[in-house]
Amino acid sequence: MPSLSLPPLPPVPSASQIGALVGELQRSVPALALLDGPAELEKLSGDFHTYSPVLRQLLAGFKGQVVACPTSVEEVMAVAGACARHGVPLTVRGAGTGNYGQCVPLAGGVVLEMTGLHQVRAVEADTGVVEAEAGCLLAELDRQLLPHGRAIRLAPSTYRSATLGGFIAGGSGGIGSLRWGFLRDPGHLLGLEVVTVEPEPRLLRLEGQACEPLNHAYGTNGILTALRLATTEAVGWWQMVVGFAEGRQALAAAQELPGTALLLQELCLLDGELAAAVPWPQGCPRPEAGESRLLVLLAPDAVAMASAWLAARGGRVVWQEPEATSRGLPLRELTWNHTTLHWRAKHPDWTYLQMVLPQPEGPFLEALNATWGENLHWHLEAVRQMGACRLAGLPVLRDQGVEALQRLMAQCREEGAWIFDPHVLTVEDGGLGVVDSEQVGCKRRLDPQGLLNPGKLRGWWEQI
Ligand code: FAD
Repeated sequence: MPSLSLPPLPPVPSASQIGALVGELQRSVPALALLDGPAELEKLSGDFHTYSPVLRQLLAGFKGQVVACPTSVEEVMAVAGACARHGVPLTVRGAGTGNYGQCVPLAGGVVLEMTGLHQVRAVEADTGVVEAEAGCLLAELDRQLLPHGRAIRLAPSTYRSATLGGFIAGGSGGIGSLRWGFLRDPGHLLGLEVVTVEPEPRLLRLEGQACEPLNHAYGTNGILTALRLATTEAVGWWQMVVGFAEGRQALAAAQELPGTALLLQELCLLDGELAAAVPWPQGCPRPEAGESRLLVLLAPDAVAMASAWLAARGGRVVWQEPEATSRGLPLRELTWNHTTLHWRAKHPDWTYLQMVLPQPEGPFLEALNATWGENLHWHLEAVRQMGACRLAGLPVLRDQGVEALQRLMAQCREEGAWIFDPHVLTVEDGGLGVVDSEQVGCKRRLDPQGLLNPGKLRGWWEQI
């Protein structure tokens, strides 16, 4: 449920505490860039939580007191040690594209900006497993995997700007989820290098199950400096846009297409209102009035068969192009939360929800439309959840206040949807709602003073 109250927080460090910490860092690691200009602090303390009216109100004005920009693991360790010795909170930041205020520092202190650690360390020839530093951008990682014939399995639609560490610590899935499920599914994250926040920080290497408590923990229980991931074969994806005169035909196609043997990487459905509002890639015609659209990334060998298969279900391919040679807006930047971004650019008084729809989806959508009418528009994404094909929903909705938002979520739950609430602050409340004692135990071992990203792990203050 959306909450307008802040979690219990440690006090913001005094100016003299920050001065002492900065002085120590300037002496011990003179090459480390430290920023404290008001504009820099403002910019590097924010993220994309502004899509939520609840978080926008709750997080207004929260800022770090100094930003540290390390370029090596040794510099990360120096910052971690200094924060522990001076009792200063530390919030890790990748590219700051998270949607839930994950990297907004709630108790001041240091923002640790990780994009200076961006090396791809190794690609194993026999397995394709990659080890890369946490600040590596996902698109850059793919670029370096390509000569090995490999690619990352999952990417957010912020692929071009987001970091690897931020995706694992703060993301959940996205492009590729219809094939590969979600980031926390076993088999994606294989290993981690992590720095503890202690007076004498340790550099740990974790493998397999031992990584799990740090996967999607919002950087509350360790600083990730490098990650080992499974990869997949590189495919030169084609982008395809398919128009349907009737929404129910588009829905039926989205339900059935993932069950074919066509190799797909992304399948997104936009209803007529959303399709009319978003920008389209260069050369792609705008939709006709009321036209719903499917946005598909698919393998070259699937293009001809998919066109025929979709035509037999009332679809018309209006545009297709290989992703690699396409110019302008990539189709993937119309999917996942980019749909919300484009809609909100025109309708800033709207917000969104995230859910997995019950099956069959049709009656659920009809029930919600009957109640919310023109205040709710549907954007669906095909995903694989625990091995099964499902449709996730990221609908946009007119902001009518917290009470209406709660009523809508309650109705979705009653009708059988599984909500992932994007209007809450903690790891637990945005996920399954329950405390994961492994995550909390990991924080006790790796961040015993509770300095990392205060206020974001509910289990921490509930269990101490
Ligand atoms: P940040 O926002 O900087 O950080 C995210 C969290 O990770 C924070 O809690 C931070 O403290 C922590 N963190 C960052 N680096 C480290 C580290 N090295 N060690 C420990 N903790 C760390 N998300 C999806 O999952 N799928 C999508 O398709 C998707 N689409 C999006 C579309 C738009 C338009 C927007 C605005 C957001 C979208 N997101 C999506 C959310 C976000 O872009 C992704 O989760 C992204 O991967 C976050 O990466 P980042 O580098 O920006 O992380």
